[in-house]
Amino acid sequence: MSRVLVVEDESAIAELISLNLRHAGYEVTLAATAEQAQAAVDGVLPDLVLLDWMLPGQSGLSLARRWRGDARTRELPIIMLTARADETDKVAGLDAGADDYLAKPFSTNELMARIRAVLRRKAPEALDAAVEVAGLRLDPSTRRVSRGDVELKLGPTEFRLLHFFMTHPERVHSRAQLLDRVWGDHVFIEERTVDVHVKRLREALSPAQCAQMVETVRGAGYRLTQQVAASQA
Ligand code: CA
Repeated sequence: MSRVLVVEDESAIAELISLNLRHAGYEVTLAATAEQAQAAVDGVLPDLVLLDWMLPGQSGLSLARRWRGDARTRELPIIMLTARADETDKVAGLDAGADDYLAKPFSTNELMARIRAVLRRKAPEALDAAVEVAGLRLDPSTRRVSRGDVELKLGPTEFRLLHFFMTHPERVHSRAQLLDRVWGDHVFIEERTVDVHVKRLREALSPAQCAQMVETVRGAGYRLTQQVAASQA
């Protein structure tokens, strides 16, 4: 389930957005100020943030800039919400690092479409689309993993981990990044936990001869690769 952080000080709007998001299957956290939003992000990294521009105290714009300057939140998908429809404001919002910009009032359908578009681009593991890498196929909607005729049995954590790897193939992910993106918690779970689940994932993939696709990158973390033969030569 995708986690969306809604940062909005007008409680009626916040409640309406959160109701619609929950109805669409998202897990929602609300924050009414930049400080609350920062505290929420420090705890659990959301898949996407809906960030109101005008907040009491620190503005949404400056919060977006701060997040873009921090390694942990640099890639965080952000949709800026604003009452201002000016072209210059839109440019300022996008310059501050927002992935998209939505002027109030907006329709629920438009908001949902923008959220899906940003997730597709930046956090495809948060969507239900099936993915395939080197013949290995994972379908989030049926929770099935297979390669050819071989159906694989994965635990829920291994499934999420594989889904994340498959939507970001060939990239190296540190243990801390995996805790953030797969577990949603980089503070209270030990990095060693990642190693345990990677081991289990390789075991689960071995009936389809895919265990070697999950590579250990010494001193850096893990990656999913389809170039197994090349990397072993
Ligand atoms: Ca506001």
